Amino acid sequence: MLKKVFLANPRGFCAGVKYAISYVEKVQETTAEPIYVRKEIVHNRRVVEDMKKKGIQFIDELSEAPEGATVVFSAHGVSPSVVSEAKQRNMKIGDATCPLVTRVHRKARNMKDTHQFIYIGHEGHDEAIGTMGEAPMFLVESPEEVDSLKDKIDPNKPLTYLMQTTLSVADTKLIVDKIQEVFPFVEHPAKDDICYATTERQEAVTGMIQDVDAMLVIGANNSSNSLRLLQLAQKTKPNSFRIGSPEELDIENHIVKTNIETLGITAGASSPQVLVDEICNKLKQNFPEVSVELFPGSREDTMNFKLPKNLIQ
Ligand code: SF4
Repeated sequence: MLKKVFLANPRGFCAGVKYAISYVEKVQETTAEPIYVRKEIVHNRRVVEDMKKKGIQFIDELSEAPEGATVVFSAHGVSPSVVSEAKQRNMKIGDATCPLVTRVHRKARNMKDTHQFIYIGHEGHDEAIGTMGEAPMFLVESPEEVDSLKDKIDPNKPLTYLMQTTLSVADTKLIVDKIQEVFPFVEHPAKDDICYATTERQEAVTGMIQDVDAMLVIGANNSSNSLRLLQLAQKTKPNSFRIGSPEELDIENHIVKTNIETLGITAGASSPQVLVDEICNKLKQNFPEVSVELFPGSREDTMNFKLPKNLIQ
């Protein structure tokens, strides 16, 4: 019988997600024209559905919007080829890319004439596609894949690496160690690219995992940072699980059959607080005695990014 729920902090919306959502809202305030957002603004269905209700249209490719339309790029960033295409089609461009993703793009641009790059990330993820469009890069997802680059990396040219911002801190360290072992001449960046939000949300789970029977991670199945939180939790508590919405919470299979008495809840960086509230309410309806409280000693995510003055270029 479930007795206690501990909420992780920080959890849920990060500064980059808040930035991207308010970017679109501000653009909508300043124009009466239709707004097209390329790809999911953030990887969360509830956020996307709420925007659709307000009239925002979502497209996968620019060709789905008319010539000259107002288009906003999502928080994950885009390849320069997408920007060029938008310009060719005379589109009015808004860029809601998280500033911490933009920073990785800038690093790639600044070094592309002098360095070769290994990109540590997940193949096919929107952020990886965008950053890898800045320069030729070798993608690796695991330490084992680093070996396969032996014939491809030029030992006479400087080598460095970039990262997707939402990776597992611990797993990425293993990949970096392997890069150092295979390519001892690699230049390590002064700071890695895993963002503060990813790091802090993983630290919060690590800090509470011994005090719970399992973690519930709220996040979409295409949300990289949510999947990393799940992976981290399952290493210690295998009954941990992920759901994207209250409807996906299966009380019998997720809670009762696994004998969970103390449940930790966290949420990926693109999951709104309303989902946490709705899921807690569903738990309370099923277990009226359950107490819900913040995990002791946790802290808020107070980071914020300022919107630019000119939202549309
Ligand atoms: S998870 Fe990190 S990089 Fe991604 S939007 Fe949030 S702050 Fe930006």
